[in-house]
Amino acid sequence: MVEYYNEFDGIVLSIRKHREKDALVKIFTREHGKRMFFVKNIKNPNHALKAALLPFTKATYLGRIKEDGLCFLQDSRDIEHFSKMQTDIHLNAYATYLNNLADAAINDGIVSHELYDLLYSCLEAIQNGMDAEVVVNIFEMRVLKFFGADPQLQACAVCHSQEEPFDFSVKFSGVLCQKHFGEDNRRQHANPAAIHFARIFLHVSPKQIASVQVKPETKKALREFIDFLYEEYVGIRLKSKSFIDDMFEWEQQFQIPVRKPEQPEEGEKS
Ligand SMILES: [Zn+2]
Repeated sequence: MVEYYNEFDGIVLSIRKHREKDALVKIFTREHGKRMFFVKNIKNPNHALKAALLPFTKATYLGRIKEDGLCFLQDSRDIEHFSKMQTDIHLNAYATYLNNLADAAINDGIVSHELYDLLYSCLEAIQNGMDAEVVVNIFEMRVLKFFGADPQLQACAVCHSQEEPFDFSVKFSGVLCQKHFGEDNRRQHANPAAIHFARIFLHVSPKQIASVQVKPETKKALREFIDFLYEEYVGIRLKSKSFIDDMFEWEQQFQIPVRKPEQPEEGEKS
């Protein structure tokens, strides 16, 4: 049995009570993939690791990675709290969804620097005040490939033209340019602006488009388009995603103004 005892970076994904006083903490480590850690007496107010094991925390941990079974933690340093997600119910919901999606996208113990760095950059972007809906959309688009989904959005499936507007075709598993809409009479009739942003989001980090402005109606269409891609190509339904959908519905129903007013213009700036 291989055992390491060393330092690694990690993001807390979930915390679950175990027996009376202990906890099982799932941490997405950069070096060893997702691992389950057994933490004894976590309820103790003087627990040395308490601050490093709060939800929405990134830290450098010292611990023992066991290839099979539970891992153990000894110490932590350079703790970074994504405090807004710990206090704001909306940001909490979005970040919980990102954590759950990252958890669902790869098996435990599989190392993916790309997915780790993506999750980290998205949590940081939300913490820094970037539009959380846009950050979530970027994460969703970039994570598609980890689920084995590879819809072709860059060029028309028939003529390879990159000229927008595009529509999406399940038949071609990709986009069609205006000239080739006729190739699939059951095409999606998706919003062209939604496809425009989805194409961009596939290839950027939140930082690269930190000041992007997306109009509310485009956001709605983007939400619908990405939901469609997930239904068609991923087929998982996370509770944390349903929670976000319910939250939206409630707020619209009762007209609760919760989101910041949008800027009128739309465009990509960096
Ligand atoms: Zn074409």
